[in-house]
Amino acid sequence: MKGLRAALTFRFPFRAKPPRLPSETHASPAASVPRGRAAAAFAASLTFDAVERRYGQDMALKGVSLAIAPGEVVCLLGPSGCGKTTLLRIASGIEKPSRGRVLINDREVAGPERFVPPEERSVGLMFQDFALFPHLTILENVAFGLRQLPKDEARREALTILARVGLERYADGYPQVLSGGQQQRVALARAMVPRPAVMLMDEPFSGLDVQLRDSMQEETLSLLRETRATSLIVTHHPEEAMRLGDRIAVMRDGLLIKVGTAEDLYRHPGELFVARMFSEINEVPYKVAKGVISTPIGTLPAPGVAQGETAVLCIRERGIVLGMPDETKPRGSKPSDNSQTRAMAGRVLDVKFLGDVALLEVGVQGFDRPLRARARELEGWRRGAEVSVVIDPARALVFSANGSETR
Ligand code: ATP
Repeated sequence: MKGLRAALTFRFPFRAKPPRLPSETHASPAASVPRGRAAAAFAASLTFDAVERRYGQDMALKGVSLAIAPGEVVCLLGPSGCGKTTLLRIASGIEKPSRGRVLINDREVAGPERFVPPEERSVGLMFQDFALFPHLTILENVAFGLRQLPKDEARREALTILARVGLERYADGYPQVLSGGQQQRVALARAMVPRPAVMLMDEPFSGLDVQLRDSMQEETLSLLRETRATSLIVTHHPEEAMRLGDRIAVMRDGLLIKVGTAEDLYRHPGELFVARMFSEINEVPYKVAKGVISTPIGTLPAPGVAQGETAVLCIRERGIVLGMPDETKPRGSKPSDNSQTRAMAGRVLDVKFLGDVALLEVGVQGFDRPLRARARELEGWRRGAEVSVVIDPARALVFSANGSETR
């Protein structure tokens, strides 16, 4: 994000006079494409082909390939500094790749031979801090991306989209009078009004408080769907990515390490790093003997891990089902059909109230260390209570010590 903010600040200092509009102002937050509404009547595909970005000795992107289908919403998820913003900047044209290519609708927009400037790419940009122009009215902010239309038409278009986001009545006011959520909507309207074929959003909800975030995510998604804009959304938050993305692309250290639907990534994370992102897990190491690990929940395969090496059994905190000591069947969630679940004896060692759920530390028969479990708070769990513990082995994951999934 830092780089993007810097680019914005450089290009759009908040000065008293409205910025002039030379072609290089493409990096503007409003700078979606300075075209009229017909500009992006069709959704476009967006493709990264082995994209690299080097800063001196450092590789921010180490060969990223990703194909996004027309109208698809993909969330780019990963820890700070992994290269998310850099990839977004390269898609927009603010930045050039050191190697590799970017294609929009199969047309190369960045590559060894070709570089299409941002204003000719039909991309819309939206940033974390919204970057509204304080000296322009809200209507003028929105109409900023329609500069090539006759004034009346631009005004009409801007009012229509302002009405769509429920802010028509603020048209003649200034951004300072708006709440964070309202500013987010204006920024969204401004980026969407030229109907860009591709929307690029860098942590668009991180400036909002939690309650507002939920509703803004829904509103934003419905607007993206209506316009069929192909969208790439950068986020730090797995839950946000799961809510918004048709697919999620997980990055680490300049590489794309996993791409899939939320369900794919949750059920088949492929790497411990990805599993940790999508749920709170217990990690229990075991030595591998004859290709399996022997655990209290059963014998589980650990293919690819050498004899005597360590494999890590991962049990989701929400995958541990607690019941009364004499219960042999789990409450609540059903174990998978072909599972070999059996109840184990356990004792509650600690309970933390987390609202709807309780976070429990439970000593479980056969495990050397206590396991953390998340259970419905309504059950009234008490420290010291005897419980039955059911863990479905079919829902457990096994990783090699280097973090790759073994089955
Ligand atoms: P965050 O989530 O914190 O915004 P990010 O995943 O978006 O992080 P990037 O901003 O893309 O990460 O940065 C990736 C790497 O490239 C970082 O190590 C960053 O310091 C480096 N980097 C980014 N822009 C530049 C630049 N202009 N010059 C030098 N290094 C840069």
